[in-house]
Amino acid sequence: MITKPKGTYDLMGLDAKIYTYINHEIENFMANYNYDLIRTPIFEASELYHRSVGETSDIVTKETYDFKDRGDRSMTLRPEGTAGVVRSVIENKLYGNKNDCIKLYYNGTMYRYERPQSGRNREFTQFGVEVFNSADPMIDAEVISIGYNLLNSLGIDNVTVAINSLGDKISRKNYTEALVKYLTPYINELCDDCKKRFNSNPLRILDCKIDKNNDILKNVPKISDYLSKESKERFDKLKMLLTNLDIDYEIDEKIVRGLDYYDENVWEYITTDNGITLGGGGRYNSLVENLGGPNLPAVGFALGIERIILELKNKINISNLQNNIDVYIMSVNEEEKMQSIILAQNLRLNNVITEMNSNNLSLKSQFKIADSLNAKFLVILNSEDLNKGLINVKDNATKEEMKIDESEIVDWILGNI
Ligand code: AMP
Repeated sequence: MITKPKGTYDLMGLDAKIYTYINHEIENFMANYNYDLIRTPIFEASELYHRSVGETSDIVTKETYDFKDRGDRSMTLRPEGTAGVVRSVIENKLYGNKNDCIKLYYNGTMYRYERPQSGRNREFTQFGVEVFNSADPMIDAEVISIGYNLLNSLGIDNVTVAINSLGDKISRKNYTEALVKYLTPYINELCDDCKKRFNSNPLRILDCKIDKNNDILKNVPKISDYLSKESKERFDKLKMLLTNLDIDYEIDEKIVRGLDYYDENVWEYITTDNGITLGGGGRYNSLVENLGGPNLPAVGFALGIERIILELKNKINISNLQNNIDVYIMSVNEEEKMQSIILAQNLRLNNVITEMNSNNLSLKSQFKIADSLNAKFLVILNSEDLNKGLINVKDNATKEEMKIDESEIVDWILGNI
């Protein structure tokens, strides 16, 4: 037997129903917020991720799926969505109308070579939002609110938004210097990853999962003491807007995000009962320019769909997602079956959710299946009545049976479901 690759999964059953429900809600949300869908390739030139996500990030150093194509070009399966969207915005000059914000969303699979565990796969799905061409924290607040309100409307109301400001270039430079100075005497007491990060990307030491309870990390200098006046104002404005939008947030100075391109306001969506990170995002005001585009401030986030599915499984009223059909059409002989498929098509084209017997099932089995699908009406075809132009219908709730003229059956069903 050929089995699926490690860290991947087959989406099916209840998970698939929850996935469909989430996507439905995403489409509704994005229509209301007036964001446009963008779909970029699943693989891109490897260089894109080296220059955006960052040479020193865990993703690029340890987790990418890299391969040479048959033309000997270095390609990478996308580990995240932002870099591809930025590449596309630049390549397609979507910034042509410089006055407007460009508001985009994506929804697709990402690939990271991680150690698989619950909520951590090698192929996983992210829904993400990116807005270009505004540096105003009003857009940060709008973007944060999309993720927060979406989670709430899906039924995940135990979420807080942990926010932080990484500041502008100057703030980050000053803070990094202070952090390195503070950590220098202690660095040998920290984990191997921290030792590496000390030289390559000291800010990442702040969100080390191994040393997080170590007093050395608990007492690091506070980034908020190093923010420039402008960065502080942007962070204060964001807090004020989140309060006005009724968004539950808390400040967490340890949030630095794993990707190198972030600056200014950053955040994560975290469940309040079990501390699971469902997603995160932030500003990346220099990335477009670093990738060869114009100076275009930007902000975005990504939510992990698999983690949302896991959360929803504990919360959702599953019976709401079970199959509930309007009509089940029963038939036994060939003539009845012939009529059954025609009637099923007529009903389905009129938005009536319809299922029919397409096997050689006994009537008893068909009744059982109709019940398991919660059919509102049973249409019981029999040759004798069909020859008289009549169709038997049974209301599955009241058990009342009636005969309807064949030419009126669709209208009758539409009037009664
Ligand atoms: P990131 O792009 O690392 O900021 O991740 C954003 C969100 O994507 C996380 O909070 C998770 O919900 C989800 N995510 C990231 N990596 C994985 C993974 N390996 N498996 C499943 N979900 C993931």
